[in-house]
Amino acid sequence: MERQLIRKVSDEWTVPPQLTDYQSVCKNFSWQQIEAELDGLPDGRGMNIGHEAVDRHANGPAAESTALRWLSKDGICADFSYAELGRQSNRFANLLTQLGVNKGDRVFALCGRLPSLYIAALGCWKQLAVFCPLFSAFGPEPIQQRLSRGDAKLLLTTEKLYRKKVAPLRTRLPQLKHVLLVDSEEDLADEVLSLPKALARASDEFQIPATDPEDMAILHFTSGTTGMPKGAVHVHQALLHHYASGRYVLDLRPGDIYWCTADPGWVTGTSYGIIAPLLHRVTNIIDEAEFDSERWYRILSQQQVNVWYTAPTAIRMLMRSGLRPRQATDLSHLRLIQSVGEPLNPEAVLWGQDVLGLPIHDNWWQTETGGIMIANYRATDIRPGSMGQPLPGIEAGIVQQREDGSVEEVEKPGVEGELALRPGWPSMFRTYLHDEERYRTCFKNNWYLSGDLATRDADGYFWFVGRADDIIKTSGHMVGPFEVESALIEHPAVAEAGVIGRPEPTIGELVKAFVTLNPDFEPSDQLRFELLGFARKRLGSAVAPKEIEFLSQLPKTRSGKIMRRLLKARELGQPEGDVSTLEGV
Ligand code: ATP
Ligand code: MG
Repeated sequence: MERQLIRKVSDEWTVPPQLTDYQSVCKNFSWQQIEAELDGLPDGRGMNIGHEAVDRHANGPAAESTALRWLSKDGICADFSYAELGRQSNRFANLLTQLGVNKGDRVFALCGRLPSLYIAALGCWKQLAVFCPLFSAFGPEPIQQRLSRGDAKLLLTTEKLYRKKVAPLRTRLPQLKHVLLVDSEEDLADEVLSLPKALARASDEFQIPATDPEDMAILHFTSGTTGMPKGAVHVHQALLHHYASGRYVLDLRPGDIYWCTADPGWVTGTSYGIIAPLLHRVTNIIDEAEFDSERWYRILSQQQVNVWYTAPTAIRMLMRSGLRPRQATDLSHLRLIQSVGEPLNPEAVLWGQDVLGLPIHDNWWQTETGGIMIANYRATDIRPGSMGQPLPGIEAGIVQQREDGSVEEVEKPGVEGELALRPGWPSMFRTYLHDEERYRTCFKNNWYLSGDLATRDADGYFWFVGRADDIIKTSGHMVGPFEVESALIEHPAVAEAGVIGRPEPTIGELVKAFVTLNPDFEPSDQLRFELLGFARKRLGSAVAPKEIEFLSQLPKTRSGKIMRRLLKARELGQPEGDVSTLEGV
């Protein structure tokens, strides 16, 4: 495929980017310098996420600036200042102590994007409990699995979710001591308390205990795209990376209006939906509602969002909606759009430029990395389809396995291999909870192995090829599904595509595509032939799909990732495996 380039022109910036000279920032970067910009707890008692994200501002001149702006499903808009968030999270921290929650105990949250969730997260960090957010749409089984694998001691949820999904499981969760109901005015039982009532009794003053940078702060389960979700453990020190990436990738600065569309049940919604924005003292927009193209465009314009962090699945849905917001709404405040979670098709990057007035900036990371590792920056040229370049402070490489099982870096540009990172950055996961052995297998020869395949070009840009599990071997070629999917969605009829390899004795695997169509298009044999020809012309016959099947929707995780393993299992009539994160079940 022909590669395009979006050049960044410096005289187009009214607000100059915080990272302008990528090479020199990388060269001069040090974690000590980042740490020096933050506060630390008084009297050298360490560094705590709750303090840096909230109290640092609440105790200073910007105490009354807006930290959270919550937009409810039904039209309420509620602002919380840094001072208010400081007091509320203090109350929550005191409440945890009263309830006997100790340092390192796990506090789970199972509720939608409600203010209490954010207050609880900050309260946990202050009190040194471990915050573990779950998607509220999970069914009872995935909830039970996670609460039990994470040794949940306390659960924050709504009355409805408690009655429907948790109460029936209580006997299977002996370690769960307390439930706090965010929306109930009355206690339901001794161990099922009304959060508003309990908070009202708690003091709004709290002294954060000494915090070791290695104290556990967050437990996040991975998305389950490739199998059983793993519980990644993160520590307080991660905030250094959230802060650095908030500046260099998201270009955040105090007073910005920032909107991250991810739910905290997915790591993006915590690292970049809570921590990084508050560290930078922005106004953090939280929308309680689910995706809706008109609503989203309205939020971008009415709230005058400056920086927007979203995901490819949402962008593809906006593309599919056919709306052209700039004709009806004012998006002039927007200065940066970032996207993460899945490969971002070149088509989508360019659509952003055309329809929103800005290209979409792709970036790559994982639950395990805790923060953004590879990104496109405001000031650097974009090569649509590339994830960009490693962050300052991050060393990324392409590695291949040698015969003896060890790995070595491939220096030559364009060669496919596993995307690997040099361990040691602050937000790196510290283990998979209760699975130290699996954690250890992620590291070899001083590299963290991501499980994703990629290439690096001569200029240091990384290109996603596919997850190691999804790579298709066909007639002696290795085919990455992303390349095939991206070619298909260039066709006007195609909204989304998921590509798999179906075992075929003569050729190894046959490339098969599942596609969903844009409105105004109907599945037909004629369209199928047209798409097969379209893909063949773009990709060549070795890589192009040999079969295309129309679906009304693709199976996705709740964070919006296409689950190719499910497409494959269904195609082969095999068991579906863990479907706890599958959307719509
Ligand atoms: P599991 O590990 O349970 O299978 P998961 O890998 O989807 O789930 P996450 O940690 O949420 O869980 O997702 C990280 C993965 O998402 C990456 O390893 C990569 O495969 C994919 N990903 C994230 N961002 C990008 C991107 N910009 N381009 C391509 N792939 C991406
Ligand atoms: Mg993964």
